[in-house]
Amino acid sequence: MTTLQTIQEPNYPLRDRSLSVKPKNDNFLYLKDLCDTMRDTMRFLDGIGIAAPQIGESKRIFLIETSLFPDIAIPSDIFINPKILKRSFKQTSGEEGCLSVKGMYGTVKRAKTVTLEAYDINGEKFKLKASDLLARVFQHETDHLEGILYIDKALPSSLHIYIKSEEYDK
Ligand SMILES: [Zn+2]
Repeated sequence: MTTLQTIQEPNYPLRDRSLSVKPKNDNFLYLKDLCDTMRDTMRFLDGIGIAAPQIGESKRIFLIETSLFPDIAIPSDIFINPKILKRSFKQTSGEEGCLSVKGMYGTVKRAKTVTLEAYDINGEKFKLKASDLLARVFQHETDHLEGILYIDKALPSSLHIYIKSEEYDK
């Protein structure tokens, strides 16, 4: 796979509930290739995270750019079958964008802290507690696997278009 572009809303399979992966039984090389393509695409487009449906695969996988969180020990940049086990009652508002809704940004209220469980590429389960931006990314990406986009949750009056000059070339 060499996809370096993302599926744009409204297109399949962004609005579908993605299918579970069997981390130890599904084809390892296929999963690895899929994750490599997701990582390349996320980096090419300067994303913080990317979910499999964004490159056309309706699978419960997302990746994050761990280098943006140098102070946090994140065991894997690949999250397979991720599940949010706990969300804090306390919420924070923050601006979000999405590789599948190009050029648009908006303010979304999310839980300040979440506990996430997922499998890595080797099928090992891990758990991680995250706050603020990382917690926001986890919630944004797990929403993708339910067919939910941040624009569904953003304060409607906060949604705005912002296109950087270099994006005109893409
Ligand atoms: Zn997104």
